Amino acid sequence: MNSQKTSWNRRHFLQGSLLGAGAAISSTGETAVAADPGAKEPEVVQSFDVLVVGGGTAGTVAAIQAGRLGAKTLIVERGSQLGGTMTTGGVAFPGLFDAWGKQVIAGIGWELVKESVEMDEGEFPNFAKVPQRHWHNQIYTNQFLYAILAEEKCAAAGVEIAYYEFPQAVERTEQGWQIDCVGFGTRRRVTCRQIIDCTGGAEVVGMLGFPRLREAERQPGSFLYMLGESHEPGRNQIHRLYVHGADSTNSRTATQANLAGRKSILEQVRQKKQRLMHLQPETGFRESYRIEGETVVTVEDYVSGRFFDDAISYAFYPVDLHTRDGVKPEPLKPGVVPTIPLRALIPKGSRDLMVAGRCLGSDRLANSGLRVQAACMGMGQAAGVAAALAAKQGKTPLEIPLADIRDLLREHGQIVPERA
Ligand SMILES: Cc1cc2nc3c(=O)[nH]c(=O)nc-3n(C[C@H](O)[C@H](O)[C@H](O)COP(=O)(O)OP(=O)(O)OC[C@H]3O[C@@H](n4cnc5c(N)ncnc54)[C@H](O)[C@@H]3O)c2cc1C
Repeated sequence: MNSQKTSWNRRHFLQGSLLGAGAAISSTGETAVAADPGAKEPEVVQSFDVLVVGGGTAGTVAAIQAGRLGAKTLIVERGSQLGGTMTTGGVAFPGLFDAWGKQVIAGIGWELVKESVEMDEGEFPNFAKVPQRHWHNQIYTNQFLYAILAEEKCAAAGVEIAYYEFPQAVERTEQGWQIDCVGFGTRRRVTCRQIIDCTGGAEVVGMLGFPRLREAERQPGSFLYMLGESHEPGRNQIHRLYVHGADSTNSRTATQANLAGRKSILEQVRQKKQRLMHLQPETGFRESYRIEGETVVTVEDYVSGRFFDDAISYAFYPVDLHTRDGVKPEPLKPGVVPTIPLRALIPKGSRDLMVAGRCLGSDRLANSGLRVQAACMGMGQAAGVAAALAAKQGKTPLEIPLADIRDLLREHGQIVPERA
């Protein structure tokens, strides 16, 4: 394992902590060091059971689940709210929770979507009816309510949130992980037993030097906006504009995607001479890095509905690869419901590290179906259970008996795949 060294001077850090100048222990057990812009010490030093990096579609659910199991949990999110592509990207029509006439994904993700829709007096599709087109059963959700309800559920589960921060260095220590995070005016040193990487692009996995998968060609990203008519959150379809070549790898490539996307939208405003009524703050990225997991789900596994021995969640969506020419979804054959194996959430050869969300171990075509929101939420909940149990028992997630993970998932409202 490539144990990346922290850029901070550890001796300096320890001296600072021992001297304790201006340091105080808060009620949360956090050591606060007096703010000094010139100082080398982190402003915050904390210890957790579970660190979730990325508070998006999967990460929010993973953290709430870990918190509900009593694990001391922190979410580090580089943006300003929870929900990721669902909220900041504006893709607030999650799918698919049902397959062939019945619900196949539930749990914490469903709880959040359901409460958002109910509070917004929105509508649910009838899961008992098999729709003609898959997207008829996506659920229009108010992205603003969803983000706030997610914060409320984190607070209730005792999950702490650190916005505007991201890991700068990750190091293995004898006690577990040490992660140095930065945000404006904040350097935070976190020690924890388990990390769940929910960054969408497996960024922590990449920092640690574990192999990731990505092809030269990527699906386009999209900017979501409304031109000429207002957007009613949780009610109507939203306009989408492809951003070809969109790449979420780093701040430079993401900046390019945002600049290109907004420039195209400005061109549309000028051409169509219509009012710009709504614009999400950033590009939604469909595809980035996936992990090379202990298992890599192939498109053959996906379209055949392979039942993995370590299946922890269902997924359901057509193979859905967007290209320059658009998208031609390839629906699954009647009765097929793919499953997600726990081992696809574990970077090959790693310990105490999981992913959840679109970066799971999968080939490109399988990923085009697995990446959707209900599936990401299902993975998040499973990773939350596995990480919380592993932290409590001082084990790595693969050492936890599957039956224990599955029992807790059921207890917490999730539907666990059963062999047909
Ligand atoms: C345009 C578009 C249309 C789509 N249409 C649908 C659809 O119709 N139905 C459907 O169900 N799905 C759809 N999807 C797919 C789905 O929305 C995403 O694949 C899914 O939401 C990804 O979830 P995630 O948790 O993996 O990542 P995200 O939800 O993107 O969350 C990742 C989070 O990690 C944070 N982050 C990233 N790096 C770091 C870091 N280094 N440190 C801290 N935080 C970090 C990000 O800010 C973000 O909040 C669509 C996607 C796009 C882009």
